[in-house]
Amino acid sequence: MTWETIIGLEIHAQLRTESKIFCGCATRFGDEPNANTCPTCLGLPGALPVLNQRVVELGARAALALGLHVNHQSIFARKNYFYPDLPKGYQISQFDQPFSANGELEIMTAERDEAGHPIEWRPKKISITRLHLEEDAGKNVHEGLPDVDRYSYIDLNRAGVPLAEIVTEPDFRTSWEAYDYVNHVRRALQWVGASEADMEKGNLRCEANVSVRRVGDEKFGTKVELKNLNSVRFMQRAIEFEVARHIQVLEAGGRIAQETRLWDERAMETRVMRSKEEAHDYRYFPEPDLQPLIVSEQFVEELRQAMPELPEQRRKRFSEQYGLSYADASQLVSDRSLADYYEEAAKASGNPRATANWIRSELLRELEANGVSPADSPLRAKDLAALVRLIDEGKISGKQGKDVLVEMFKTGKSAEAIIEEQGLVQVTDTGEIDALIDGVIAANQDQLASYRSGKEALFGFFVGQVIKASKGKANPKVVNDRLRARLQG
Ligand SMILES: [Zn+2]
Repeated sequence: MTWETIIGLEIHAQLRTESKIFCGCATRFGDEPNANTCPTCLGLPGALPVLNQRVVELGARAALALGLHVNHQSIFARKNYFYPDLPKGYQISQFDQPFSANGELEIMTAERDEAGHPIEWRPKKISITRLHLEEDAGKNVHEGLPDVDRYSYIDLNRAGVPLAEIVTEPDFRTSWEAYDYVNHVRRALQWVGASEADMEKGNLRCEANVSVRRVGDEKFGTKVELKNLNSVRFMQRAIEFEVARHIQVLEAGGRIAQETRLWDERAMETRVMRSKEEAHDYRYFPEPDLQPLIVSEQFVEELRQAMPELPEQRRKRFSEQYGLSYADASQLVSDRSLADYYEEAAKASGNPRATANWIRSELLRELEANGVSPADSPLRAKDLAALVRLIDEGKISGKQGKDVLVEMFKTGKSAEAIIEEQGLVQVTDTGEIDALIDGVIAANQDQLASYRSGKEALFGFFVGQVIKASKGKANPKVVNDRLRARLQG
Protein backbone atom coordinates (compact mmCIF):
# COMPACT_ATOMS: atom_id res chain seq x y z
CA MET A 1 0.00 0.00 0.00
CA THR A 2 1.89 3.02 -1.21
CA TRP A 3 -1.15 5.27 -1.62
CA GLU A 4 -3.51 6.62 0.97
CA THR A 5 -7.07 7.66 0.13
CA ILE A 6 -8.52 10.84 1.64
CA ILE A 7 -12.26 11.45 1.52
CA GLY A 8 -14.45 14.19 2.95
CA LEU A 9 -18.23 14.19 2.62
CA GLU A 10 -21.00 16.74 2.35
CA ILE A 11 -24.57 15.68 2.88
CA HIS A 12 -27.61 17.81 2.07
CA ALA A 13 -30.64 16.50 3.89
CA GLN A 14 -34.09 17.95 3.33
CA LEU A 15 -35.72 18.67 6.66
CA ARG A 16 -39.15 17.15 6.95
CA THR A 17 -41.34 20.25 7.12
CA GLU A 18 -44.73 20.88 5.55
CA SER A 19 -43.70 24.35 4.39
CA LYS A 20 -40.54 26.00 3.10
CA ILE A 21 -37.84 27.58 5.22
CA PHE A 22 -38.66 31.28 4.64
CA CYS A 23 -42.27 31.26 3.35
CA GLY A 24 -45.50 29.30 3.73
CA CYS A 25 -45.32 27.42 0.39
CA ALA A 26 -45.74 23.65 0.51
CA THR A 27 -42.68 21.39 0.22
CA ARG A 28 -44.74 18.56 -1.36
CA PHE A 29 -42.87 16.43 -3.87
CA GLY A 30 -44.31 15.83 -7.33
CA ASP A 31 -46.71 18.79 -7.61
CA GLU A 32 -47.21 20.72 -10.87
CA PRO A 33 -44.07 22.72 -11.68
CA ASN A 34 -44.06 26.15 -10.01
CA ALA A 35 -47.35 25.45 -8.20
CA ASN A 36 -45.72 25.93 -4.79
CA THR A 37 -44.26 29.40 -5.15
CA CYS A 38 -44.86 32.90 -3.79
CA PRO A 39 -43.11 36.28 -4.02
CA THR A 40 -40.58 35.24 -1.35
CA CYS A 41 -39.37 32.01 -2.91
CA LEU A 42 -39.59 33.54 -6.40
CA GLY A 43 -37.21 36.20 -5.15
CA LEU A 44 -39.46 39.11 -6.15
CA PRO A 45 -38.25 42.54 -5.02
CA GLY A 46 -39.56 43.61 -1.63
CA ALA A 47 -40.59 40.14 -0.44
CA LEU A 48 -39.10 39.30 2.95
CA PRO A 49 -38.07 35.95 4.42
CA VAL A 50 -39.54 34.75 7.72
CA LEU A 51 -37.84 31.80 9.39
CA ASN A 52 -39.97 28.67 9.82
CA GLN A 53 -39.61 27.59 13.47
CA ARG A 54 -40.13 23.96 12.59
CA VAL A 55 -36.87 24.09 10.60
CA VAL A 56 -35.03 25.08 13.77
CA GLU A 57 -36.63 22.24 15.68
CA LEU A 58 -35.85 19.62 13.05
CA GLY A 59 -32.33 21.01 12.56
CA ALA A 60 -31.76 20.67 16.30
CA ARG A 61 -33.13 17.14 16.29
CA ALA A 62 -30.80 16.27 13.42
CA ALA A 63 -27.85 17.72 15.35
CA LEU A 64 -28.75 15.83 18.53
CA ALA A 65 -29.25 12.56 16.62
CA LEU A 66 -25.66 12.92 15.38
CA GLY A 67 -24.32 13.79 18.82
CA LEU A 68 -23.66 17.44 17.87
CA HIS A 69 -24.38 20.46 20.00
CA VAL A 70 -26.47 23.42 18.81
CA ASN A 71 -24.88 26.86 18.84
CA HIS A 72 -26.67 29.43 20.95
CA GLN A 73 -26.42 31.91 18.09
CA SER A 74 -26.12 31.35 14.39
CA ILE A 75 -26.27 33.80 11.50
CA PHE A 76 -27.92 33.43 8.11
CA ALA A 77 -25.75 34.69 5.28
CA ARG A 78 -26.15 35.37 1.58
CA LYS A 79 -24.13 33.14 -0.67
CA ASN A 80 -23.96 35.06 -3.91
CA TYR A 81 -23.83 33.37 -7.28
CA PHE A 82 -25.79 33.43 -10.51
CA TYR A 83 -27.71 30.46 -11.77
CA PRO A 84 -31.10 30.33 -13.53
CA ASP A 85 -32.69 28.21 -10.79
CA LEU A 86 -31.75 30.82 -8.18
CA PRO A 87 -33.93 33.85 -8.90
CA LYS A 88 -32.62 36.01 -6.06
CA GLY A 89 -29.03 35.74 -7.28
CA TYR A 90 -28.06 34.43 -3.86
CA GLN A 91 -28.86 31.51 -1.62
CA ILE A 92 -29.65 32.08 2.05
CA SER A 93 -27.27 29.81 3.90
CA GLN A 94 -24.99 30.04 6.91
CA PHE A 95 -21.29 30.79 6.82
CA ASP A 96 -18.99 31.71 9.69
CA GLN A 97 -21.56 31.19 12.44
CA PRO A 98 -23.34 27.96 11.57
CA PHE A 99 -26.11 26.19 13.48
CA SER A 100 -23.67 23.59 14.79
CA ALA A 101 -19.91 23.13 14.44
CA ASN A 102 -16.95 21.05 15.59
CA GLY A 103 -18.71 17.83 16.46
CA GLU A 104 -17.58 14.27 16.55
CA LEU A 105 -19.55 11.23 15.50
CA GLU A 106 -18.67 7.62 16.14
CA ILE A 107 -19.78 5.17 13.47
CA MET A 108 -19.38 1.42 13.05
CA THR A 109 -17.60 0.49 9.84
CA ALA A 110 -16.16 -2.57 8.11
CA GLU A 111 -14.29 -3.32 4.92
CA ARG A 112 -16.08 -5.77 2.62
CA ASP A 113 -14.84 -8.99 1.05
CA GLU A 114 -15.17 -9.83 -2.65
CA ALA A 115 -18.80 -10.84 -2.19
CA GLY A 116 -19.57 -7.55 -0.43
CA HIS A 117 -19.85 -9.09 3.05
CA PRO A 118 -18.53 -7.05 6.00
CA ILE A 119 -15.21 -8.42 7.27
CA GLU A 120 -14.88 -6.99 10.76
CA TRP A 121 -16.93 -4.20 12.32
CA ARG A 122 -14.98 -1.57 14.22
CA PRO A 123 -15.81 1.87 15.60
CA LYS A 124 -14.40 4.99 13.92
CA LYS A 125 -14.66 8.62 14.95
CA ILE A 126 -15.52 11.18 12.28
CA SER A 127 -15.04 14.90 12.85
CA ILE A 128 -18.07 16.91 11.78
CA THR A 129 -16.94 20.35 10.66
CA ARG A 130 -20.39 21.87 10.61
CA LEU A 131 -24.11 21.39 10.28
CA HIS A 132 -25.84 24.44 8.90
CA LEU A 133 -29.33 25.37 7.73
CA GLU A 134 -30.04 26.71 4.26
CA GLU A 135 -32.59 26.92 1.48
CA ASP A 136 -32.53 24.69 -1.57
CA ALA A 137 -32.41 26.15 -5.09
CA GLY A 138 -34.94 25.34 -7.84
CA LYS A 139 -34.42 22.90 -10.65
CA ASN A 140 -33.62 23.38 -14.33
CA VAL A 141 -35.67 21.04 -16.49
CA HIS A 142 -34.02 19.68 -19.61
CA GLU A 143 -36.23 16.67 -20.24
CA GLY A 144 -39.85 15.71 -20.80
CA LEU A 145 -41.09 18.79 -22.69
CA PRO A 146 -41.55 19.11 -26.47
CA ASP A 147 -39.09 21.92 -27.20
CA VAL A 148 -36.32 21.14 -24.73
CA ASP A 149 -33.88 21.03 -27.63
CA ARG A 150 -34.26 24.82 -27.84
CA TYR A 151 -35.33 25.85 -24.32
CA SER A 152 -34.60 25.03 -20.72
CA TYR A 153 -37.41 25.20 -18.19
CA ILE A 154 -37.24 26.14 -14.55
CA ASP A 155 -39.27 24.61 -11.74
CA LEU A 156 -39.07 26.60 -8.52
CA ASN A 157 -41.12 24.25 -6.33
CA ARG A 158 -37.93 23.22 -4.63
CA ALA A 159 -36.61 26.76 -4.19
CA GLY A 160 -36.74 27.51 -0.47
CA VAL A 161 -37.12 23.92 0.70
CA PRO A 162 -35.17 23.61 3.99
CA LEU A 163 -31.88 21.73 4.04
CA ALA A 164 -29.38 20.76 6.67
CA GLU A 165 -25.90 20.60 5.18
CA ILE A 166 -23.55 18.34 7.10
CA VAL A 167 -19.86 18.61 6.30
CA THR A 168 -17.09 16.33 7.57
CA GLU A 169 -13.36 16.75 7.83
CA PRO A 170 -11.37 14.61 5.34
CA ASP A 171 -11.41 11.72 7.80
CA PHE A 172 -12.41 8.77 5.63
CA ARG A 173 -9.69 6.47 4.34
CA THR A 174 -11.77 3.98 2.37
CA SER A 175 -14.93 4.04 0.29
CA TRP A 176 -16.61 1.67 2.76
CA GLU A 177 -16.02 4.06 5.65
CA ALA A 178 -17.80 6.72 3.58
CA TYR A 179 -20.56 4.24 2.77
CA ASP A 180 -21.10 3.29 6.41
CA TYR A 181 -21.06 6.95 7.46
CA VAL A 182 -23.75 8.01 4.99
CA ASN A 183 -25.92 5.09 6.04
CA HIS A 184 -25.39 6.02 9.68
CA VAL A 185 -26.44 9.62 9.04
CA ARG A 186 -29.44 8.61 6.93
CA ARG A 187 -30.72 6.24 9.57
CA ALA A 188 -30.18 8.76 12.38
CA LEU A 189 -32.11 11.50 10.53
CA GLN A 190 -34.97 9.16 9.66
CA TRP A 191 -35.00 7.75 13.17
CA VAL A 192 -35.68 11.11 14.83
CA GLY A 193 -38.03 12.28 12.09
CA ALA A 194 -35.72 15.10 10.97
CA SER A 195 -35.64 14.00 7.32
CA GLU A 196 -37.03 11.28 5.10
CA ALA A 197 -33.43 10.97 3.92
CA ASP A 198 -34.48 9.12 0.78
CA MET A 199 -31.73 9.42 -1.84
CA GLU A 200 -33.99 8.27 -4.65
CA LYS A 201 -36.40 11.13 -4.02
CA GLY A 202 -33.45 13.49 -3.80
CA ASN A 203 -34.17 14.52 -0.24
CA LEU A 204 -30.74 13.32 0.77
CA ARG A 205 -27.87 14.18 -1.55
CA CYS A 206 -24.24 13.60 -1.02
CA GLU A 207 -21.00 14.83 -2.48
CA ALA A 208 -17.57 13.35 -1.93
CA ASN A 209 -14.21 15.12 -2.06
CA VAL A 210 -11.63 12.54 -3.02
CA SER A 211 -7.85 12.67 -3.28
CA VAL A 212 -4.90 10.35 -2.80
CA ARG A 213 -1.40 10.89 -1.42
CA ARG A 214 1.65 8.72 -0.95
CA VAL A 215 1.71 7.07 2.44
CA GLY A 216 3.79 9.26 4.75
CA ASP A 217 3.11 12.51 2.87
CA GLU A 218 1.80 15.38 4.97
CA LYS A 219 0.33 17.32 2.10
CA PHE A 220 -3.03 16.35 0.62
CA GLY A 221 -3.22 15.56 -3.09
CA THR A 222 -5.44 17.54 -5.47
CA LYS A 223 -9.04 16.76 -4.71
CA VAL A 224 -11.88 16.06 -7.05
CA GLU A 225 -15.51 16.65 -6.13
CA LEU A 226 -17.92 13.87 -7.01
CA LYS A 227 -21.60 14.64 -7.63
CA ASN A 228 -24.69 12.90 -8.96
CA LEU A 229 -24.37 10.11 -6.43
CA ASN A 230 -27.95 8.88 -6.36
CA SER A 231 -27.47 6.06 -3.90
CA VAL A 232 -24.98 5.17 -1.21
CA ARG A 233 -23.79 2.26 -3.33
CA PHE A 234 -23.17 4.54 -6.32
CA MET A 235 -21.17 6.84 -4.09
CA GLN A 236 -19.02 3.96 -2.91
CA ARG A 237 -18.42 2.81 -6.49
CA ALA A 238 -17.68 6.33 -7.70
CA ILE A 239 -15.06 6.75 -4.97
CA GLU A 240 -13.43 3.43 -5.85
CA PHE A 241 -13.34 4.39 -9.51
CA GLU A 242 -11.89 7.80 -8.73
CA VAL A 243 -9.19 6.50 -6.39
CA ALA A 244 -8.03 4.01 -9.02
CA ARG A 245 -8.00 6.77 -11.65
CA HIS A 246 -5.93 9.10 -9.44
CA ILE A 247 -3.35 6.44 -8.70
CA GLN A 248 -3.08 5.48 -12.34
CA VAL A 249 -2.63 9.09 -13.49
CA LEU A 250 -0.07 9.89 -10.78
CA GLU A 251 1.94 6.74 -11.27
CA ALA A 252 2.15 7.51 -14.98
CA GLY A 253 3.63 10.90 -14.04
CA GLY A 254 0.48 12.91 -14.77
CA ARG A 255 -1.34 15.39 -12.60
CA ILE A 256 -4.90 15.45 -11.28
CA ALA A 257 -6.97 18.46 -12.25
CA GLN A 258 -9.14 20.04 -9.60
CA GLU A 259 -12.62 19.54 -10.98
CA THR A 260 -16.15 18.40 -10.34
CA ARG A 261 -17.04 15.02 -11.80
CA LEU A 262 -20.33 13.19 -12.22
CA TRP A 263 -20.88 9.49 -11.69
CA ASP A 264 -22.30 7.78 -14.75
CA GLU A 265 -23.94 4.61 -13.49
CA ARG A 266 -24.45 3.13 -16.92
CA ALA A 267 -20.82 3.50 -17.95
CA MET A 268 -19.66 2.83 -14.36
CA GLU A 269 -17.25 5.75 -14.52
CA THR A 270 -16.90 9.41 -13.56
CA ARG A 271 -16.99 12.21 -16.14
CA VAL A 272 -15.85 15.82 -15.92
CA MET A 273 -18.72 18.21 -15.20
CA ARG A 274 -16.73 21.39 -14.79
CA SER A 275 -13.24 22.45 -13.99
CA LYS A 276 -12.76 24.09 -10.62
CA GLU A 277 -9.28 25.53 -10.89
CA GLU A 278 -10.22 28.62 -8.95
CA ALA A 279 -12.11 28.59 -5.71
CA HIS A 280 -15.43 30.40 -5.92
CA ASP A 281 -15.77 33.66 -4.10
CA TYR A 282 -19.36 33.73 -2.95
CA ARG A 283 -19.01 37.10 -1.22
CA TYR A 284 -20.87 35.89 1.82
CA PHE A 285 -22.35 38.55 4.02
CA PRO A 286 -24.95 38.42 6.83
CA GLU A 287 -28.53 38.29 5.53
CA PRO A 288 -29.87 41.77 6.37
CA ASP A 289 -33.52 40.65 6.30
CA LEU A 290 -33.14 38.04 9.06
CA GLN A 291 -32.26 38.37 12.72
CA PRO A 292 -29.49 36.24 14.18
CA LEU A 293 -30.98 32.88 15.12
CA ILE A 294 -30.94 32.47 18.90
CA VAL A 295 -31.60 28.99 20.21
CA SER A 296 -32.08 28.75 23.97
CA GLU A 297 -30.51 26.05 26.10
CA GLN A 298 -33.99 25.20 27.34
CA PHE A 299 -35.32 24.64 23.81
CA VAL A 300 -32.49 22.21 23.05
CA GLU A 301 -32.82 20.51 26.44
CA GLU A 302 -36.54 19.90 25.93
CA LEU A 303 -35.85 18.36 22.54
CA ARG A 304 -33.08 16.25 24.04
CA GLN A 305 -35.46 14.92 26.70
CA ALA A 306 -38.03 14.04 24.06
CA MET A 307 -35.51 12.20 21.85
CA PRO A 308 -36.12 8.50 21.27
CA GLU A 309 -33.44 5.98 22.19
CA LEU A 310 -30.96 6.28 19.30
CA PRO A 311 -30.10 3.38 16.96
CA GLU A 312 -26.64 2.63 18.36
CA GLN A 313 -27.88 2.67 21.96
CA ARG A 314 -30.70 0.41 20.96
CA ARG A 315 -28.39 -1.99 19.15
CA LYS A 316 -26.26 -2.34 22.27
CA ARG A 317 -29.30 -2.83 24.46
CA PHE A 318 -30.77 -5.47 22.12
CA SER A 319 -27.50 -7.43 22.32
CA GLU A 320 -27.35 -7.24 26.11
CA GLN A 321 -31.01 -7.62 26.95
CA TYR A 322 -32.02 -10.20 24.36
CA GLY A 323 -28.72 -11.98 23.75
CA LEU A 324 -28.62 -11.09 20.05
CA SER A 325 -25.49 -11.22 17.89
CA TYR A 326 -24.07 -8.01 16.43
CA ALA A 327 -25.43 -8.90 12.99
CA ASP A 328 -28.93 -9.65 14.32
CA ALA A 329 -29.11 -6.54 16.47
CA SER A 330 -27.72 -4.26 13.73
CA GLN A 331 -30.20 -5.45 11.19
CA LEU A 332 -33.11 -5.02 13.59
CA VAL A 333 -32.12 -1.40 14.27
CA SER A 334 -31.60 -0.57 10.59
CA ASP A 335 -35.03 1.04 10.74
CA ARG A 336 -36.90 2.39 13.73
CA SER A 337 -40.23 0.78 12.88
CA LEU A 338 -38.47 -2.57 12.49
CA ALA A 339 -36.80 -2.16 15.88
CA ASP A 340 -40.17 -1.31 17.46
CA TYR A 341 -41.78 -4.29 15.74
CA TYR A 342 -39.07 -6.63 16.95
CA GLU A 343 -39.24 -5.45 20.52
CA GLU A 344 -43.01 -5.80 20.71
CA ALA A 345 -42.87 -9.31 19.23
CA ALA A 346 -39.90 -10.40 21.38
CA LYS A 347 -41.65 -9.38 24.59
CA ALA A 348 -44.91 -11.05 23.63
CA SER A 349 -43.29 -14.30 22.47
CA GLY A 350 -40.96 -14.68 25.44
CA ASN A 351 -38.31 -15.99 23.02
CA PRO A 352 -36.32 -12.99 21.77
CA ARG A 353 -33.73 -14.96 19.79
CA ALA A 354 -36.22 -17.09 17.92
CA THR A 355 -38.27 -13.96 17.24
CA ALA A 356 -35.18 -12.26 15.77
CA ASN A 357 -34.59 -15.27 13.51
CA TRP A 358 -38.16 -15.35 12.27
CA ILE A 359 -38.05 -11.66 11.46
CA ARG A 360 -34.66 -11.76 9.74
CA SER A 361 -35.17 -14.95 7.76
CA GLU A 362 -38.90 -14.93 6.99
CA LEU A 363 -40.71 -11.67 7.70
CA LEU A 364 -38.20 -9.30 6.08
CA ARG A 365 -38.35 -11.31 2.87
CA GLU A 366 -42.13 -10.92 2.75
CA LEU A 367 -41.92 -7.22 3.59
CA GLU A 368 -39.34 -6.59 0.89
CA ALA A 369 -41.12 -8.63 -1.75
CA ASN A 370 -44.31 -6.65 -1.12
CA GLY A 371 -42.68 -3.26 -0.61
CA VAL A 372 -44.27 -2.87 2.82
CA SER A 373 -42.67 -1.23 5.86
CA PRO A 374 -42.68 -3.06 9.21
CA ALA A 375 -45.12 -0.49 10.57
CA ASP A 376 -47.64 -1.45 7.86
CA SER A 377 -47.05 -5.19 8.00
CA PRO A 378 -50.31 -7.12 7.62
CA LEU A 379 -48.69 -9.65 9.95
CA ARG A 380 -48.65 -7.76 13.23
CA ALA A 381 -45.99 -8.11 15.91
CA LYS A 382 -48.30 -9.76 18.42
CA ASP A 383 -49.42 -12.29 15.82
CA LEU A 384 -45.84 -13.15 14.94
CA ALA A 385 -45.20 -13.63 18.67
CA ALA A 386 -48.15 -16.03 18.85
CA LEU A 387 -46.67 -18.03 15.94
CA VAL A 388 -43.29 -18.25 17.67
CA ARG A 389 -45.02 -19.49 20.83
CA LEU A 390 -47.00 -22.16 18.96
CA ILE A 391 -43.76 -23.49 17.49
CA ASP A 392 -42.01 -23.39 20.87
CA GLU A 393 -44.89 -25.31 22.38
CA GLY A 394 -44.63 -27.94 19.65
CA LYS A 395 -48.13 -27.26 18.28
CA ILE A 396 -46.68 -27.02 14.80
CA SER A 397 -43.22 -27.69 13.44
CA GLY A 398 -40.81 -24.96 12.38
CA LYS A 399 -41.27 -26.05 8.79
CA GLN A 400 -45.05 -25.72 9.03
CA GLY A 401 -44.45 -22.37 10.72
CA LYS A 402 -42.81 -20.99 7.57
CA ASP A 403 -45.87 -21.74 5.48
CA VAL A 404 -48.16 -20.38 8.17
CA LEU A 405 -46.16 -17.13 8.27
CA VAL A 406 -46.53 -16.63 4.51
CA GLU A 407 -50.27 -17.26 4.80
CA MET A 408 -50.58 -14.88 7.77
CA PHE A 409 -48.79 -12.21 5.76
CA LYS A 410 -51.09 -12.77 2.79
CA THR A 411 -54.39 -12.87 4.67
CA GLY A 412 -53.77 -10.98 7.93
CA LYS A 413 -55.27 -13.94 9.79
CA SER A 414 -53.89 -15.23 13.09
CA ALA A 415 -51.63 -18.28 13.20
CA GLU A 416 -54.25 -20.24 15.13
CA ALA A 417 -56.93 -19.57 12.53
CA ILE A 418 -54.68 -20.76 9.70
CA ILE A 419 -53.54 -23.83 11.60
CA GLU A 420 -57.20 -24.69 12.28
CA GLU A 421 -58.27 -24.09 8.66
CA GLN A 422 -55.47 -26.15 7.20
CA GLY A 423 -55.65 -28.83 9.89
CA LEU A 424 -51.96 -28.35 10.56
CA VAL A 425 -51.96 -29.04 14.26
CA GLN A 426 -49.27 -31.45 15.30
CA VAL A 427 -50.40 -34.53 17.16
CA THR A 428 -48.53 -34.60 20.44
CA ASP A 429 -51.07 -36.66 22.37
CA THR A 430 -49.17 -39.79 23.44
CA GLY A 431 -52.27 -41.97 23.47
CA GLU A 432 -53.01 -41.12 19.86
CA ILE A 433 -49.43 -41.64 18.81
CA ASP A 434 -49.15 -44.95 20.67
CA ALA A 435 -52.19 -46.19 18.78
CA LEU A 436 -50.52 -45.29 15.48
CA ILE A 437 -47.32 -47.01 16.58
CA ASP A 438 -49.23 -50.18 17.46
CA GLY A 439 -50.79 -50.20 14.03
CA VAL A 440 -47.43 -49.79 12.30
CA ILE A 441 -45.77 -52.50 14.40
CA ALA A 442 -48.61 -54.93 13.77
CA ALA A 443 -48.29 -54.42 10.02
CA ASN A 444 -44.49 -54.78 9.97
CA GLN A 445 -43.64 -57.84 12.05
CA ASP A 446 -40.67 -58.86 9.86
CA GLN A 447 -39.02 -55.46 10.24
CA LEU A 448 -39.68 -55.61 13.98
CA ALA A 449 -37.87 -58.91 14.23
CA SER A 450 -34.89 -57.57 12.23
CA TYR A 451 -34.74 -54.44 14.37
CA ARG A 452 -34.77 -56.45 17.58
CA SER A 453 -32.02 -58.68 16.27
CA GLY A 454 -29.76 -55.65 15.89
CA LYS A 455 -30.68 -53.90 12.63
CA GLU A 456 -31.04 -50.52 14.27
CA ALA A 457 -31.08 -48.62 11.02
CA LEU A 458 -34.69 -49.72 10.71
CA PHE A 459 -35.64 -47.21 13.38
CA GLY A 460 -35.95 -44.49 10.75
CA PHE A 461 -38.27 -46.74 8.75
CA PHE A 462 -40.64 -47.02 11.70
CA VAL A 463 -40.57 -43.26 12.37
CA GLY A 464 -41.43 -42.66 8.73
CA GLN A 465 -44.32 -45.12 8.82
CA VAL A 466 -45.82 -43.55 11.95
CA ILE A 467 -45.55 -40.01 10.58
CA LYS A 468 -47.11 -41.21 7.34
CA ALA A 469 -49.94 -42.91 9.23
CA SER A 470 -50.62 -39.59 10.99
CA LYS A 471 -50.74 -37.80 7.61
CA GLY A 472 -47.71 -35.78 8.64
CA LYS A 473 -49.29 -34.40 11.76
CA ALA A 474 -47.49 -36.41 14.43
CA ASN A 475 -44.86 -34.50 16.37
CA PRO A 476 -41.56 -36.13 15.32
CA LYS A 477 -40.02 -35.79 18.76
CA VAL A 478 -42.90 -37.52 20.53
CA VAL A 479 -42.93 -40.23 17.85
CA ASN A 480 -39.22 -40.81 18.38
CA ASP A 481 -39.51 -41.08 22.15
CA ARG A 482 -42.55 -43.36 22.20
CA LEU A 483 -41.35 -45.54 19.34
CA ARG A 484 -37.95 -46.17 20.90
CA ALA A 485 -39.62 -47.40 24.09
CA ARG A 486 -42.12 -49.64 22.25
CA LEU A 487 -39.57 -51.17 19.91
CA GLN A 488 -37.43 -52.31 22.82
CA GLY A 489 -40.30 -54.73 23.47
ZN1 LIG B 1 -42.93 30.64 -1.25
